[in-house]
Amino acid sequence: MAQEDLIREESMTDLWNVWYSELHQQRAGLTLKVKSVVYSGQSPFQRIDILDTYEFGKMLVLYGSIMITERDEFIYHEMISHPALFTHPNPRRVLVIGGGDGGTVREVLKHPEVEQVTLVEIDQMVVEKCKEYFPQVACQLDNPKTRILFQDGAKFVAETQEKFDVVLVDASDPIGPAEVLFQKKFHQDIYNLLEDGGIMVTQSESPFFHQRTLRRMYENLQGIFPLVKVYWAYVPTYPSGIWSFTLCSKGPDPATDFKAAQYAELGIETNYYNDGIHHAAFVLPNFVRKALGQM
Ligand code: SAM
Repeated sequence: MAQEDLIREESMTDLWNVWYSELHQQRAGLTLKVKSVVYSGQSPFQRIDILDTYEFGKMLVLYGSIMITERDEFIYHEMISHPALFTHPNPRRVLVIGGGDGGTVREVLKHPEVEQVTLVEIDQMVVEKCKEYFPQVACQLDNPKTRILFQDGAKFVAETQEKFDVVLVDASDPIGPAEVLFQKKFHQDIYNLLEDGGIMVTQSESPFFHQRTLRRMYENLQGIFPLVKVYWAYVPTYPSGIWSFTLCSKGPDPATDFKAAQYAELGIETNYYNDGIHHAAFVLPNFVRKALGQM
């Protein structure tokens, strides 16, 4: 290539100097250089953007918040699923609320005793776009064990007569359609549809930036479930990088009921979760213990 063509091409590349910034608390944020805008649209529920970024690959943004990126989605999806599934003695029927990208369903179906996973996602367009642009995440959405219902998760849990062994609340942030998924009534309805010995895990936001949300959820959940434990994982593209989950159980305890033999025998492929992380994730830094009123 002639020198001037090369320079022209480089300057063309420089012209595409597009960055995505997500503000946290309006005062801090995460900024990523964008390679291209893959898709932008509006569903009946929210704005949907898919951006290709240099550092994290393709990224799904809903309602202006990063939901998943190709590079780090495994951490959140493994950690919302496996602690509960390796604690419940026989998780046959699993319910996922939200989670339309399919990453949580993918992890749930690594457990052979799961007979059916029901995904209740409010926004059909999220599922369609994820199947199209994130096939490695949505890869189990067409599995015969997967049943997808397009409806409001809060309405589903309030009205269904079905019972489940494990419920995973894979919700977006508590604004817009997901706000209801952080409320006490929703969690009480989940308690009611869990079988004896059932377990629920909900994502519970950043223990660094969203302490009031986490504390309020923790206190509400303690009023509903006999056992409530917060745990955490490191997710680079979520606000502050440290993310919390809250496990609520009618009986089994992740500390004492971890199925170590089954974990060893199954040998599932994971990139973050393992038997050590299963226990370590529940050890909370002091600032989180203080935020929860534990010290
Ligand atoms: N990993 C993500 C996070 O923490 O940012 C969550 C991702 S997942 C894509 C969240 C999903 O919840 C979205 O697809 C959204 O459409 C869905 N959702 C929001 N409100 C809902 C509701 N009320 N019922 C069912 N699904 C809902």
